[in-house]
Amino acid sequence: MTLSPWNATVLTLYPAMFPGPLGVSLSGEALARGTWNLEARDIREHGLGRHRAVDDPPAGGGAGMVLRCDVLAAAIDAAAAPDDPRPRLLMSPRGRPLTQARVRALSGGPGVLIVCGRFEGVDERVIAGRGLEEVSIGDYILSGGEVAALVVLDACVRLLPGVMGKVASGEEESFEAGQLEYPHYTRPRDWEGRAIPDVLTGGNHGAIARWRRAEALRLTRERRPDLLRPPEG
Ligand code: SAH
Repeated sequence: MTLSPWNATVLTLYPAMFPGPLGVSLSGEALARGTWNLEARDIREHGLGRHRAVDDPPAGGGAGMVLRCDVLAAAIDAAAAPDDPRPRLLMSPRGRPLTQARVRALSGGPGVLIVCGRFEGVDERVIAGRGLEEVSIGDYILSGGEVAALVVLDACVRLLPGVMGKVASGEEESFEAGQLEYPHYTRPRDWEGRAIPDVLTGGNHGAIARWRRAEALRLTRERRPDLLRPPEG
């Protein structure tokens, strides 16, 4: 049985930014093998008039420009049929912050359609009009949604079957168990006066597992106590 590929469509004013870093290493090899597909479509193809205009000044005044809802809707409609089952994401600093749980769900589905904002953002009406889910990659402002889309795709693609060599290395990572990961060491055993903790070289697998659990908990308490609190609501 051959699995159908995971299909990503990105709507952007800068299609040359794709696949970008996703064209190399594990994601690039998986792209070449057909484990996933990536189509970057130029929003400007749906721009208006001789200059293919995509933006206009904000209603009510203020700085910058806003991506037009009619142009974006035309780009979305050309990229995805109404019965396309893929979630439609809009990269947006106002969105729900991306989590590993959401990444895992997206990765387990048929793929994604991602709309990349630019300028001040997009006309609000297209969000409801085309059922876009706003997703943020963190509390800072990027110049456009493209880098954020690359982040989402990278996180999803590495979870696709066969992309990472060893499945276990995905399951023990930070956030998968609601905690940060324990520290890693490799050779040399002594380096600049810093030794690998004895327990890791002692061969007692039970003791190693206990040490790792304790370290994960310690680091999570220190750095991300919010992860240990039960979710609100
Ligand atoms: N005026 C907006 C910022 C626009 S930044 C505001 O203050 O909220 C331009 C585009 O970059 C956005 O439309 C979005 O697509 C993308 N972007 C910027 N920061 C982002 C973030 N943290 N997560 C996801 N997308 C982001």
